[in-house]
Amino acid sequence: MVTLNSEEKKFYDAFWELKLKSGTHPPSIISVFDMMGGNSKTFVDACFLSNPYATSLFLEDFNKEIIEGGKLREYIEAYPPQNIEVAEHLTSVINVPVNNIFIGNGAIEIIQAVIHNFIKGKIVVNIPTFSSYYEYMKNKEDVIYYQLPKERNYSLNIDKYIAYIKEVRPDSIVIVNPNNPNGDYISLENITLILKELSFLTNIIIDESFIHFAYEDADFSMINTYNLLKQYPNLIVIKSLAKDFGIAGLRVGYAIMSEDKVSSLLATGYQWNIGGFANYFYRLYSRNDFSHAYDIVRKKYIMNTLMFINELSRIPEIKVYPSKANFALIELIDGSLSKEIMVKLLYTYGVYVRDCSDKIGLKGEFLRIASRTFEENMIILDALKDIFKNG
Ligand SMILES: *Cc1c(COP(=O)(O)O)cnc(C)c1O
Repeated sequence: MVTLNSEEKKFYDAFWELKLKSGTHPPSIISVFDMMGGNSKTFVDACFLSNPYATSLFLEDFNKEIIEGGKLREYIEAYPPQNIEVAEHLTSVINVPVNNIFIGNGAIEIIQAVIHNFIKGKIVVNIPTFSSYYEYMKNKEDVIYYQLPKERNYSLNIDKYIAYIKEVRPDSIVIVNPNNPNGDYISLENITLILKELSFLTNIIIDESFIHFAYEDADFSMINTYNLLKQYPNLIVIKSLAKDFGIAGLRVGYAIMSEDKVSSLLATGYQWNIGGFANYFYRLYSRNDFSHAYDIVRKKYIMNTLMFINELSRIPEIKVYPSKANFALIELIDGSLSKEIMVKLLYTYGVYVRDCSDKIGLKGEFLRIASRTFEENMIILDALKDIFKNG
């Protein structure tokens, strides 16, 4: 069991005080950096879940075309186009008619829009999961928590779930696929089965913010559920682009939903809330050269992540949960406390991970660790091994 030294203890108090102010999400690395006062030589952000290779790819074009191209002033001074025009750029890349695309200022805005406009009764939320799906419900009594079983590594038992929903008959359900924080992936076949069996529901929300990291074949081909909307108009697919493209600061995300839902949202707002740089991203994304280059870094990162998770699972003091996302949920099984290990990793090793003690539905001591570049993953692995060796 690992314990803290006196300096780490001092930092522990300061960190958890900062965390109190940031609600159910971890403090941003910018505030954490301020607090550390340059203590650490290295800094690896394995708390935020993003592909760092994709960030670099985006920055290459951004630097060349916006900064060196002398367009920065134009992007800042002028209004960006309306969301509906932005959707025009996306339609060809994702192969969805423009009338079925709803652009949001990050997926978070879409989650709010969907929950506040389309949920007319009870919603079943599987836990543990991304907290906004229950937090944004105005009437908390309308949230039905469906506990994912720990003995199945918090994975969804499809048959049991379908039977449960048929019995409870809520208004809506939400499935995060792959799930955050454990990375459990539901196959396209099972998603189709859920849609088929539960077509009586008003809304079936599927959050695919991590789907670019999942795969069903050896080629890591991209998985696509959008075609299912034609058959199942109660489907709403929500997709953040922050994680797969590594551009959370730009606030980018979209949803695929029926035409009438898109137009009803646009009729009451959500017309003009995309920033100029987000607009630049969508234009870039629609270009073949960029999507081709993106696919290469996407696959490279999946390979890295596979190796990383494999190495993690060789550390005897932790249990690594099976994941098809770009992170691993790990359980401390040597009696160590997740808050303490999190602080030690951050303060002494400069590695920022997500402590999961505030996640409802998890029972035990859990950390969620994102995969980073190959070199950064090595730093994370060495830090963990060192901690368990030296206590
Ligand atoms: C991060 C995350 C979001 C929010 O994404 P933004 O585009 O940054 O608002 C939504 N859903 C899940 C499951 C996430 O992990």
